[in-house]
Amino acid sequence: MNGDPYAWIRSDLASLHRAGWYRSTLPGTGRAGAYTQIGGRPVLQFASNDYLGLAGDGRLIEAACRATQHYGTGATGSRLLSGERPIHRELERALADWKGCEDCLVFSSGYLANLGAIPALVGRRDLIVADERNHASLRSGAELSGARQLFYAHADLAALEALLVAERHRHRRCLICTDTVFSMDGDLVDLAGIARLAEDYRCMLLVDEAHATGVIGPRGAGAVEHFGLPGPLVQMGTLSKALGSLGGYICGSAELVDYLRNRARSWIYTTGLSPADAAAATAAVAIARNDADRREQLWENIRHLRSELDGLGIEQLPSDSAILCVQVGDIEATRRFAAKLLEDGIFAPAIRPPTVSTSRIRFSLSAIHTDEMIDRLLGAIGRWRQVG
Ligand code: PMP
Repeated sequence: MNGDPYAWIRSDLASLHRAGWYRSTLPGTGRAGAYTQIGGRPVLQFASNDYLGLAGDGRLIEAACRATQHYGTGATGSRLLSGERPIHRELERALADWKGCEDCLVFSSGYLANLGAIPALVGRRDLIVADERNHASLRSGAELSGARQLFYAHADLAALEALLVAERHRHRRCLICTDTVFSMDGDLVDLAGIARLAEDYRCMLLVDEAHATGVIGPRGAGAVEHFGLPGPLVQMGTLSKALGSLGGYICGSAELVDYLRNRARSWIYTTGLSPADAAAATAAVAIARNDADRREQLWENIRHLRSELDGLGIEQLPSDSAILCVQVGDIEATRRFAAKLLEDGIFAPAIRPPTVSTSRIRFSLSAIHTDEMIDRLLGAIGRWRQVG
């Protein structure tokens, strides 16, 4: 047997290029905020998930520095061995209290929270019923679990119920999984309706609140708070978006959290969250929960951009969040549009297949954007739309 056993990688990369699916990174320098620097040039940041503008906030930075001085940089081991610090439980209690749950478990990322929780809750004899646009981490968790996964059309509760009618009785346990705010569209699902179906068909319900936390609900606690849902639920979220840090979590009953501590492999067999990330997130929860003005400013920005886009006759995908998507054509047209915006000092990514079925520009808003910044964005969109 001769030949290069890695040669297939070259041909796979070539096929990604041919399909227009090849991805690469674009480093932004400088502290997180309303501006970033790309290629040494300041550009307005409409690409980040820093919805409350906390990633560059002095209070989070100071909390992270203090925790690092006190504990050092790394957690040094799994939480079950050497990696547990008081700051982890402090963060978990703050999150549980905010989310109206008995307890919480913090993972090293949101991806790992879904990857750990889903296989802990269901296995080969079980069923997962999932929205077709669920985040990749929910899909990966479902695949890892070995459970049968069936998809319903996006946000279509009748389709969800039809699947439950046909398939629920054939399986031991059933887990319904859904994003609450969809990350590449920005719409909010009818969670009250889904929770009713979960109850009617005796299903567990896991909700991914990554893009709702800090944004939706009277205290910013997410869609569960917005819809006033009573428990029990599995509430997943991330510390990396509105909370400006890194890490993920599952909030729920004390029993659920106790169980996950013993069964979630992506929590057991990985190093605990760094003290700096845990401390920054703890500071962020206090701000996100108590600073209603900051959240209101974000919503003013959302309303401003939406109504001005309407005024320009620019169609947006339905959105109930800080994520606003505009479709400008196929993959190439979308990529060109994003490049033109960047030339104009606006950073907003082209999102394209295979991440989504149809290409779009995704703008994410932050509480730290000013009216003048949003007007600059609108000016650029108007200009480039005319040029095409
Ligand atoms: N769920 C959703 C809906 C997300 O958008 C993301 C991040 N893109 C994640 C989970 C994963 O979170 P993290 O970045 O903390 O791994």
